[in-house]
Amino acid sequence: MRNALSLMLVSIVAATLIAAGSWFWTSSAGRHAAAAQAVAAAQAASAPAKPASPRDPIEVTGSITEKTPAAALPQPKQACANPDALGVSRVVEIDTTGGPGFGFEHFKQIDFLADKEVVLTFDDGPWPGNTPAVLKALADECTKAVFFSIGKHATYHPEILKLVAAAGHTVGTHTWSHANLNSKKLTEQLVKDEIEKGNSAVKFALGTAPSPFFRFPELQHNPAAMAYLGTRNIAMFSCDLDSFDFRAKNAEQIITTVMTKLDKQGKGIILMHDFQKHTAEAMPELLRRLKAGGYKVVFMKPKAPMQTLAEYDEALIKDLKLPVAGTRPVNTIVQTVSQ
Ligand SMILES: [Zn+2]
Repeated sequence: MRNALSLMLVSIVAATLIAAGSWFWTSSAGRHAAAAQAVAAAQAASAPAKPASPRDPIEVTGSITEKTPAAALPQPKQACANPDALGVSRVVEIDTTGGPGFGFEHFKQIDFLADKEVVLTFDDGPWPGNTPAVLKALADECTKAVFFSIGKHATYHPEILKLVAAAGHTVGTHTWSHANLNSKKLTEQLVKDEIEKGNSAVKFALGTAPSPFFRFPELQHNPAAMAYLGTRNIAMFSCDLDSFDFRAKNAEQIITTVMTKLDKQGKGIILMHDFQKHTAEAMPELLRRLKAGGYKVVFMKPKAPMQTLAEYDEALIKDLKLPVAGTRPVNTIVQTVSQ
């Protein structure tokens, strides 16, 4: 009887939570559906990542400093309630001086991962529902990732981006509006504006400077922009392994793509999108499969925070200010004339 009553109570609480959750999702999704569709459409229309050019015009001067062995690190496992968690096997600190490039699809100079080591990366967030679901899956496995946030999305959902940072993940940037920086339509100034406005927007959302880690939208590497990022001491991230999650029909397809490529390549920086629903759905099982496959997560973090440019910080705040609505009382503006 007591058990039956407990079960009933649990069911009622669960049903209430599910109802509350779906209401939240529906209303949030509705509010930002247009933006979601715009970005999704841009991604769908874009060509998949091009094969690497082996001679990217970037001189890599950055270096990776391996930290002390995991055992000597300040107890990240302390708070982990899951004894079988994937965890973090190694933390690497990146000196971003000169803008080093990572990910063998485009940058072949820095090979720092050992066999079976992976780096988890997520682009295009923060986004309601999907980003929190990815965060929960990572937390359940006590593991850490790098997030490349779109500036606009950061200004829509700063509270979600703050959750990403609070969970200890690395937050890098991914332009202001996810523009293809290799487009002939963009002048050098507009390319710079996309990068810097994105940086300032992520800083604005976080309330603190992001990591000097950047990923080009659609992995479209503009040589002039690469040189510019070098002067800004911002590391560039391509990937070793593209999940193509943005065009996956379901979660299982993402898991299969990632595991098949990993089993073939043996290691790598994995590109995924916390913006995508199927990715969020895939994450718990994908992380379990990584663990079962003997893969280990390496967490990348910068040696120093990004230095955003003051002029862009200031311009962004001006841009985000809502127009002044005036001070007339409502009843002098809106009057009921028929009821
Ligand atoms: Zn993207």
